[in-house]
Amino acid sequence: MRKDLVSKIAADMAGLPKSRAEALDRGFAHYYTGKPCRHGHLAIRFVSKGICMECNSIRNLKALDAKKEKLKPCPALLKLDDALADKALARELKEVWDE
Ligand SMILES: [Zn+2]
Repeated sequence: MRKDLVSKIAADMAGLPKSRAEALDRGFAHYYTGKPCRHGHLAIRFVSKGICMECNSIRNLKALDAKKEKLKPCPALLKLDDALADKALARELKEVWDE
């Protein structure tokens, strides 16, 4: 069963171009060199970016983290949040807020 799967995947991969140049030549979006990328991943590579799928998903995750970083509240908000944790202070702040 597993052997079938492996040979099926191997057959699919065998149909892929083995270099970026070959992929461009044959109009493929992906290729597989059979050699690890510079980060050691054995994965199919994108013709457009020249990076492997593994590197691509890591890059996407990093981009998402960078986005989250940008969405962090500003220091003033963190200070406000701390202040609101103080119940007495929060009540006073609410009064000012409601005015
Ligand atoms: Zn990689």
